[in-house]
Amino acid sequence: MQPSDAPAAGRATKHDADYVFHELTRSICPECRQVIDAHIILRDGQVFMRKRCPRHGQFEALVYADAQAYTAQARFNKPGTIPLAYNSRIEHGCPHDCGLCPDHQQHTCLGIIEVNSACNMQCPLCFANAGSGFSLTLEEVEDILDGFVRTEGYPEVVQFSGGEPTIHPQIVPMLRAAKARNIRHVMLNTNGKRIANDDSFRDELADLQPAIYLQFDGFSSETYRIIRGEPDILDEKLRALDRLAEIGCKVVLVPAIERGVNEHEIGDIVRLGMRHPAVLGVNFQPAFHAGRHMQHDPLQRMTIPDILRRLEAQTEGIFQVSDFVPVPCCFPTCNSVTYAYVDGETVLPITRLLDVEDYLDYISNKILPGFGDDVLRALEGLWSSSVVPGSAKATTDLLTSCAACQLPEGLDIRGIAERMFMVMLQDFMDPWTFNQKNVMKCCKEILLPGGKQIPFCAYNSVGYREQARAQLAVKHRKPLEFQFSR
Ligand code: SF4
Ligand code: SF4
Ligand code: SF4
Repeated sequence: MQPSDAPAAGRATKHDADYVFHELTRSICPECRQVIDAHIILRDGQVFMRKRCPRHGQFEALVYADAQAYTAQARFNKPGTIPLAYNSRIEHGCPHDCGLCPDHQQHTCLGIIEVNSACNMQCPLCFANAGSGFSLTLEEVEDILDGFVRTEGYPEVVQFSGGEPTIHPQIVPMLRAAKARNIRHVMLNTNGKRIANDDSFRDELADLQPAIYLQFDGFSSETYRIIRGEPDILDEKLRALDRLAEIGCKVVLVPAIERGVNEHEIGDIVRLGMRHPAVLGVNFQPAFHAGRHMQHDPLQRMTIPDILRRLEAQTEGIFQVSDFVPVPCCFPTCNSVTYAYVDGETVLPITRLLDVEDYLDYISNKILPGFGDDVLRALEGLWSSSVVPGSAKATTDLLTSCAACQLPEGLDIRGIAERMFMVMLQDFMDPWTFNQKNVMKCCKEILLPGGKQIPFCAYNSVGYREQARAQLAVKHRKPLEFQFSR
């Protein structure tokens, strides 16, 4: 007798899971930071991380709000570049051997030096938990820079950060020390207060011309009240921007986007950027839950696709989701970027003039070997964490890329390269979304006294930041050491 399809009375029936199991990776417990296995699952068109800590139970967080894009992005994964030297040994396993250790899969495109922990603001959202703690000396920063030159040869970008780096009494000599070492781009990450108010500081910046990464979260006082604790700060930020334009400094706006707070301001931030003479790009960052900003619903995080959809809707399609291509030097789901030619009302993303995806697809290799190599190199320069819009390198890369573009009538290559505007998205991982696979190919490292280089997301999620801060706060320090319970 054949078994019947009908379930026998009283017997349980199987059912299908409501998700696709996509892959197994490693993460950490958001409570105790123990390294644990994690599942990446696809459900309702979105990507989630699900993990279980033996002591603290199960956690689930939204990782990427577009499952189709997430799974299709594996091809934008460029072979890593080996640094000239490593600063740690493989001993306990990732992420406890930073670094960089020889297991790391990418060099440092962007080195970040946090020169202090103090700040002239007290943002509720501060992942660095800024406040009293430490202040590096000029000599320590010079040692860090020398170490960076040792591991990189010709470092691409050093970014001075904090705390608030502009209130460090030696920030100008520190910027100068970086320039003197021929590091291609020197960036200053700031809330803009000192630039808005201190004429002599502004004059020194006019001389040094660092690229400015300016915190700028929107226009409403409610946004600034919730995110920065200062509802009336907009005027000061706009004043900082105007003063930077007067001295010819190039600015990238850096908005932290939080669901339910400023997600409606994404389009207007880009509009301001495109019309302000100092601004050459925007780098959106979904609000990042570390430091002071731990309380949140991990299933309601903003992710890169969330911001892209709002950007498309709020700019009436001037920018479209399909204009963006992942950055292949790090893990492709960490960053996406596009560049647009902007002239008055005309906004034309380069991805509509050139099939950037075909060039940056490292798996199917759609571009024939030997053909278009110079265009590929130029696009790799633009689709990189080390790009600085408006720099000589970015302009050369744009000119080379645009040589392969299908140019509309009336536009010449030089005109396009000189009026390019960048929109980048960067989704830092927090203890809920931390993925060892991504962090092993991270290209943005925190540079510490003594030479350690620690991937940004490991520094903020695994426990390095807390340990470094405690050790750096001691007046006569020993070399930094990190210990983790395993
Ligand atoms: S993140 Fe990189 S440097 Fe750190 S332990 Fe893992 S492989 Fe090594
Ligand atoms: S987020 Fe930046 S500006 Fe705000 S308190 Fe932290 S370091 Fe200061
Ligand atoms: S900093 Fe974090 S999100 Fe950015 S490239 Fe590194 S691992 Fe990815």
